[in-house]
Amino acid sequence: MFETVIGLEVHVQLNTKTKLFCACPTSFAEHQNANTCPTCLALPGALPVVNKEAAVKAMRLGYAINANVVHASNFDRKSYFYPDSPSAYQITQLSNAIVQNGEVFIDLNDGTQKRIGMTQAHLEADAGKNIHDGSHSKVDLNRAGTPLLEIVSNPDMRSSEEAVAFLKKLHSTVRYLDISDANMQEGSFRCDVNVSVRPKGQAEFGTRVEIKNINSFRFVEAAIAYEVQRQTEAYEDGDYETEVFQETRLWNVDEGVTKSMRGKEEAADYRYFPDPDLRPLVVTQEMIDEALKMPELPDAKIKRYTEELGVKRYDALVICSEKELAYYFEAMLASGASAKNSVNWLTTELLGRLKKTEFDITTSPVSAEKLGELVSKIDDGIISGKGAKEILDVLIKEDKDIDGLINSMGLAQVSDDGAILEIIDGIIAANPEKVEQFKGGKEKLFGFFVGQTMKASKGAANPQKVNELLKERLA
Ligand code: ADP
Ligand code: MG
Ligand code: ZN
Repeated sequence: MFETVIGLEVHVQLNTKTKLFCACPTSFAEHQNANTCPTCLALPGALPVVNKEAAVKAMRLGYAINANVVHASNFDRKSYFYPDSPSAYQITQLSNAIVQNGEVFIDLNDGTQKRIGMTQAHLEADAGKNIHDGSHSKVDLNRAGTPLLEIVSNPDMRSSEEAVAFLKKLHSTVRYLDISDANMQEGSFRCDVNVSVRPKGQAEFGTRVEIKNINSFRFVEAAIAYEVQRQTEAYEDGDYETEVFQETRLWNVDEGVTKSMRGKEEAADYRYFPDPDLRPLVVTQEMIDEALKMPELPDAKIKRYTEELGVKRYDALVICSEKELAYYFEAMLASGASAKNSVNWLTTELLGRLKKTEFDITTSPVSAEKLGELVSKIDDGIISGKGAKEILDVLIKEDKDIDGLINSMGLAQVSDDGAILEIIDGIIAANPEKVEQFKGGKEKLFGFFVGQTMKASKGAANPQKVNELLKERLA
């Protein structure tokens, strides 16, 4: 039997206004090389200055994952030669990163949580882009120098499920913190997956392979599954020494395999050394205060929803998995809807309907306030759940007044005691022998009276009211 060991390195593009070491904007530029200056073009004599906003955003992540936020961290140069890096080195933080020793908790399918240790999170500058265009190649440096936060986990994960759960948790956390848009398709949240296998019970780790730049949860899962199988087979066939060695591989989407890209560089290959142009990044009290401006994070939300609002753990996990869902839910509550009904009307009724449209929760044609209003009408017995579904079907297509719809669609429930009692008394008068039997102990007949009353009201009576009043009358 074998055990899988996984450690992840996640590159998060920080959503700062300007680049990490210069004042060039990070926003989209229509023209190649428009967002550049002597610093990010690495012209001689230009000096880097650390972007405070990037440092604060890195610190905010640090506080969110219970890490040490280092008050004087250092920058290093990592040498490599590619056309998309005009300085021929990347400025990064090798040994004294701004964020060190954190933790992230992941939720497993059996309802338990697992702690994943975080080695560090460090600031570094992104490279530009090489654009291959027929017979020639071009270099676009608009992205050169944009801030990345590289977040490194300990090798604490033991399956692809755990790795994906970790990535999703980290993804949602950086989005709650609003430090990155974390758009995976656009590459602002991408990860390197380190995988090794070892015989169960062996203390030392096996040899790890690094799979670079995966940009979807599905590919992470598939790449790990492929690597585990490849490495396990090599072990079983006695080829482990020759077939599994420390190297960088790439996930080939079309073939569904990982392929060797290059042997893993040793740290020495990068000739790391402290960047002489940058003094230590010193954290001020003002930066700490700014970094601590933090929203309620998913773990705290899940605890509050389950303990204070009575939401089931599974539902709380679903709602808190994305900040947009959690904020939508909370806006429903703020408009007066009950937590219990809001959960169902958000996760099942609204999301189910949105799935069939081009909309999602961020672009929902039904606002949280509107859905909250609808749910309040159910809470108050003004309409039935069935009636509310009909109204929601309309609201998905066009924004209309809920009270107006209740009237025009004839969906108002009769909750008025007098009107319901009138019907009940008629039913009781018409069925004296059933009333006798019921009072004689045939309790099953209660359903008969409910059914008759609902029928006589043409389904408009509030069932809860009918129950209450029947109990009173038949007592
Ligand atoms: P390097 O500095 O060479 O990149 P690190 O020690 O920083 O190596 O590790 C990089 C990543 O690889 C980390 O996420 C770590 O958890 C993971 N890792 C280290 N050893 C193993 C292993 N044997 N199997 C799986 N992952 C590992
Ligand atoms: Mg590393
Ligand atoms: Zn610049």
